[in-house]
Amino acid sequence: MVAASLALCALATSCGTTPLLRFEFTETHMGAPCRIVVYAADEPTARSATTDAFGRIGELAATLSDYEPTSELSRLPSVATAAPHRAGADLFDLLARAQTLSEATDGAFDPTLGPLVRLWRRARRLRELPTPERMAAARAQTGMQYIEIDRERRTIHLRRPLMQLDVGGIAKGYAADQALDILRARGLDRALVDLGGDMALGSAPPDRAGWTVRAIPLGTDDPDPLFLILADVGVATSGDSQRGTEIDGVRYSHIVDPRTGIGVTSGIGVTVIAPDATTADALASAVSVLGENGIDTLLPRFPGVGIAARFRDRRTRTAGSIEGF
Ligand code: AMP
Ligand code: MG
Repeated sequence: MVAASLALCALATSCGTTPLLRFEFTETHMGAPCRIVVYAADEPTARSATTDAFGRIGELAATLSDYEPTSELSRLPSVATAAPHRAGADLFDLLARAQTLSEATDGAFDPTLGPLVRLWRRARRLRELPTPERMAAARAQTGMQYIEIDRERRTIHLRRPLMQLDVGGIAKGYAADQALDILRARGLDRALVDLGGDMALGSAPPDRAGWTVRAIPLGTDDPDPLFLILADVGVATSGDSQRGTEIDGVRYSHIVDPRTGIGVTSGIGVTVIAPDATTADALASAVSVLGENGIDTLLPRFPGVGIAARFRDRRTRTAGSIEGF
């Protein structure tokens, strides 16, 4: 599973009297390269804390995987259709967050889309839109109204047979937040966790105003990249470039529009900055679904959030806490 690499920056920086060194480690988690950068006094300190942070991400991946049939998430439907399931702390907390974010995005972010996401993955592979019959069957198994989350008893009850939850639109942000919490608890505040574009940023590196983050990369050939200097926030980017597909001349994203049941065609590339990476991750998926109008709808509901979006015509817009960047 793991190929760890260590790059020790030659540059020693100082913070007060303690010189801090930059360490960078990479492992593969949740199907993506996961990079952790920390500033620490020495390598054993950095390595030990980072090992724990990666361990936490691995634990979450095992709980939340929708591929792994033995994950708690995968086992949920069959268990839960009979009776409410007393969920583990991680699954419960994540689904409770997902429910709140789904409501606040008018359902554009929807963790019950599993059956439609699977159908859409198949459509992308075959380059063929799903048949109306298959779409209707998948739609009947989706909908937030079919999840009952009891916040007192901490139970989850799926009310529809064959439901499949898919937390792929939020799990990386959540895992990045959790990993950063571990690093902070170990005294490493100046840290960054990047799970393939979903990032949790801690305090700024020594002597710097923040971490330099490249926003809305719609491809490596972007002639006009946007760089943001950020600290103590979550950042997530959703774009159309890498995982999209073209069917009959129309470009579709891997993100599914809950209203149509198929891939989003807005062509929007978006980076969201939020107080935490969980929120940023879900909102990036939601803005991809809602398009430019979604920016104006969602911003007033999320204090502190900033959105940078680039549209098909290459126009860029920044709004909220990063307006005018
Ligand atoms: P992201 O890369 O964070 O935009 O998440 C994309 C993943 O989230 C997809 O691969 C699906 O597993 C899942 N997904 C697709 N569409 C949605 C949606 N509208 N709401 C929530 N999750 C979605
Ligand atoms: Mg997302």
